[in-house]
Amino acid sequence: MKKITAYENGFYGKFGGAYIPELLYANVAELEKNYQTIIDSDDFQKEFKELLKDYVGRPTPLTYAKRLSAQYNTNIYLKREDLNHTGAHKINNTIGQILLAKKLGKKRIIAETGAGQHGVATATVCALMDLECFVYMGEVDIARQAPNVSRMKMLGATVIPATSGSKTLKDATNEAIRDWINHPTDTYYLIGSVVGPAPYPEMVAQFQSIISEEMKWQLKEKTGSETPDHIIACVGGGSNAAGAFYHYLDNNNVTLHIAEASGMGIDTNQTAATGVLGTFGIIHGSKTLLMQDDNGQIIEPYSISAGLDYPGIGPLHAYLIDNKLATLHSITDKEALTAAFNITKREGILPALESSHALAVLDKHTFKPNESVVINLSGRGDKDLATYIERMKRID
Ligand SMILES: *Cc1c(COP(=O)(O)O)cnc(C)c1O
Repeated sequence: MKKITAYENGFYGKFGGAYIPELLYANVAELEKNYQTIIDSDDFQKEFKELLKDYVGRPTPLTYAKRLSAQYNTNIYLKREDLNHTGAHKINNTIGQILLAKKLGKKRIIAETGAGQHGVATATVCALMDLECFVYMGEVDIARQAPNVSRMKMLGATVIPATSGSKTLKDATNEAIRDWINHPTDTYYLIGSVVGPAPYPEMVAQFQSIISEEMKWQLKEKTGSETPDHIIACVGGGSNAAGAFYHYLDNNNVTLHIAEASGMGIDTNQTAATGVLGTFGIIHGSKTLLMQDDNGQIIEPYSISAGLDYPGIGPLHAYLIDNKLATLHSITDKEALTAAFNITKREGILPALESSHALAVLDKHTFKPNESVVINLSGRGDKDLATYIERMKRID
């Protein structure tokens, strides 16, 4: 598979690398040494593409959003990752990594999850492949994401509560890393976004790159050109955006838009706007931008959307932002909700709260009438219904 040009020795410019405890060195080195050869093999590609087609339901459609286009006086296309099995793009990555784990001879899968979406996607592929699955999840998150906990258990996974610190995602990550250290040979750590030590960010980006691979021929069919003028995606860790951008990263004719969650606003402490407020440091084994205090301790992020309240951002996106290769938008809870209600009424598509942050960029940037704009609709909104209903009550 083609690598991102900027990627070299585990780094995108000054971002990335593998800053890990010595005890993990052998695991990460094993992965680094083998992953590209395995992924590039015909055998792997055949199995990966077959599962994406027959199990996930790919290719996902590229839908021309007629009423939204009329409203904003431009040409808007929606890449429908919401139509994937399990309701979001995350399954593209878990399918890829589970196949890799099998080729590496691993028997035991561990993962961390915040809102439970990645936990569900991991438990799903473990059920499919008959592999043992342990998902670390903060105690606080277990309480507030009960339906996903039930899903994981029904899929056969063991959900292990992380009881230290703030009992949320970063603590679950710490516990998962501890588990990996204790099981160095038989265990595969399945990371859910373009984050973590190299080679995870680039590897996950490659698995998600199926999104822009399809976009190219789908756009060509619809517009005569495989190149849009704009691509918009939301960024938590950044995997759906990395997938939507991947095959256009070296194309100067496309403007890439990153929509991050600013929660209650970037001037409050209730925010997850890492691109604007983050500073250079190390999180989850990689050098990137993160929300930290003067002592380098992680500041708990906040967003209405559980998938976007990650305190860091993948090193690829830190690189794109730092080098002004992407346009950054900070979207508040309120702006995302407004966009969600608008697209649901106009297009009959109920988006995930995460994806609504990407949709809200339509109110932030004026697109020209002859331009084509692709919005990556990363997931469906059924999981967010309680939040939407709560909001409707307040509007009524
Ligand atoms: C998890 C999730 C995200 C955020 O993760 P990325 O790695 O930034 O893509 C976005 N949208 C949906 C629907 C998700 O479930």
